[in-house]
Amino acid sequence: MTANTHNHDYRLSGQAGQPLMSTLYDVDTDTGLIEPARQCASPNYDERPDSAEPELLVVHGISLPPGEFGGPEIEQLFTNKLDWNAHPYFGGIRDLHVSAHLLIRRDGEVVQFVPFTHRAWHAGDSFFRGRVCCNDFSIGIELEGDDETAYTDAQYENLIAITRALVGAYPGISGREIAAHSDIAPGRKTDPGHVFDWLRLYDGLSPS
Ligand SMILES: [Zn+2]
Repeated sequence: MTANTHNHDYRLSGQAGQPLMSTLYDVDTDTGLIEPARQCASPNYDERPDSAEPELLVVHGISLPPGEFGGPEIEQLFTNKLDWNAHPYFGGIRDLHVSAHLLIRRDGEVVQFVPFTHRAWHAGDSFFRGRVCCNDFSIGIELEGDDETAYTDAQYENLIAITRALVGAYPGISGREIAAHSDIAPGRKTDPGHVFDWLRLYDGLSPS
């Protein structure tokens, strides 16, 4: 990649010399919805304690079945419509009730399952800076992928643009309140995996 010292937005384009193509996202803090995104309502959420504002962004990786991309299974899992008998792996997660606020698919498509105003069930047993139960005060973003396969340019571009929108909408989240699921649940979770390029995310968030 060739750096253009006059236009640092090249980082968001994924291709040197290309104009910035990144989507601009807008967060409505009243409804907790982000645009543009495809809404796919999950029943797996509840109230945040004391209506807490989000103060942490948790980055996840997920694929169903593991290592397979592009199917409907993630959305089926988050909406309690997954056929537990359709794959041997699904039997092991039978009756799991989980969700995330957002999913960024391999092609960059963004799907919202739970409004940011509400508590999605993505982190499980977890802690961040001495606080437990990260679901209470976090936003969970799933990237479709696994721990071994590089995430796509489209995923980074949209994750960066979404994170910028969330940092703007929620004062409790700055560039320092971003954690991997593996950071807040060490020993139990490994996602989004060693392939996730944190420097690319941080570079994309730095002022241009
Ligand atoms: Zn996770």
